[in-house]
Amino acid sequence: TMKLDAKLLRYMNSEEFRVLTAVEMGSKNHEVVPTPLVAQIAGLRNGGSHKILGELAKKNLISRVTNAKYDGYRLTYGGYDYLALKTFVKRGSVYSVGNQIGVGKESDIYVVADENENQLALKIHRLGRISFRTIKSKRDYLQKRKSASWMYMSRLAAMKEYAFMKVLYENGFPVPEPIDNVRHCVVMELIDAYPLRQITGVQDPGQLYSDLMNLIVRLAQHGLIHGDFNEFNILIKENGNPVLIDFPQMVSTSHPDAEWYFNRDVECIHTFFKKRFNYESTLYPKFKLDISREFSLDIQVAASGFTKKYQQELESYQLELGEYSRNYDNVQELDGSSQGETDESTETGSNHISLLEDKDLLNADSEDVSADIKSVSTE
Ligand code: ADP
Ligand code: MG
Repeated sequence: TMKLDAKLLRYMNSEEFRVLTAVEMGSKNHEVVPTPLVAQIAGLRNGGSHKILGELAKKNLISRVTNAKYDGYRLTYGGYDYLALKTFVKRGSVYSVGNQIGVGKESDIYVVADENENQLALKIHRLGRISFRTIKSKRDYLQKRKSASWMYMSRLAAMKEYAFMKVLYENGFPVPEPIDNVRHCVVMELIDAYPLRQITGVQDPGQLYSDLMNLIVRLAQHGLIHGDFNEFNILIKENGNPVLIDFPQMVSTSHPDAEWYFNRDVECIHTFFKKRFNYESTLYPKFKLDISREFSLDIQVAASGFTKKYQQELESYQLELGEYSRNYDNVQELDGSSQGETDESTETGSNHISLLEDKDLLNADSEDVSADIKSVSTE
């Protein structure tokens, strides 16, 4: 359904690219971009862009939306993937796309290669993949927000992941080397290792256990908590050394619930080692006793551009989604076809935190794109 189609990169002509780009630019201010606006941004006659819009929809890069007020188009995951890949290719950080190696609830991971045939990992964030359409209450605000914000939320998650990975890597933590970030995608070092989850026996469980607990403690001494420190997000290399991945849920030790997140990370490892390796240790770090903050990487991350505001927007989305999926088990996966559903425009409850999209952030995305539009039009 949502496979990355790298072949499209080769087969798209410049007019199609120009129209696709126009749909992305239009999405900054319109959930559904009116057809005449697409033509206007792309600088094509209405009739000319009409045909191209049809082609792009057939390729699943955009989807047509018909609602009460007007007809228009919306970028699909496929279209957003395409635009991100195109930028990676232009920057030289990705040259070819290989196999998919991971599917998470909210991400897809592919092996890619750069121009020098170095293999890398591409993580595509897919927040909002869960659909709430089946839930009875039509007035529920999540239903509306999901479709309005999947691009923005996925982009925030990628931006956060890249910012944390960079600061951790630069400070000597065992994480993949971050290579590049565009839109909802992160390119990073491909780690030749298996998740701890898949490992049935280790030479010295006690050593690995204390390495992992020390990692949790060292992170906290630097002002950070991973927040999802479990057997899926720890890769074990052949030499037995762990590598930590998956950072969109990291929190600062100054977070009001820091101790709770810290204890959950510790508990995850403790429980896993008991079950998998029949190993139970007395080494059990305590947030209050063991953590004296020595560095403030949380502040470095904020300074790098992933600001507190972005952090809060993403966090409130993640919290609500988490709560929501615990309460309802009838969530569905979105596929290409269901993205073009009609919109509910009824106003909704007011007791939620506003997640207004940041126009500056989205404008930054289309800078490279507007340059393309210019170069296309002077060809
Ligand atoms: P999710 O948020 O979906 O859990 P992860 O970042 O944890 O995404 O990645 C999912 C899976 O993909 C991991 O469990 C791991 O098997 C694989 N993976 C992710 N990043 C890398 C990497 N840099 N190198 C090798 N494998 C990776
Ligand atoms: Mg993970």
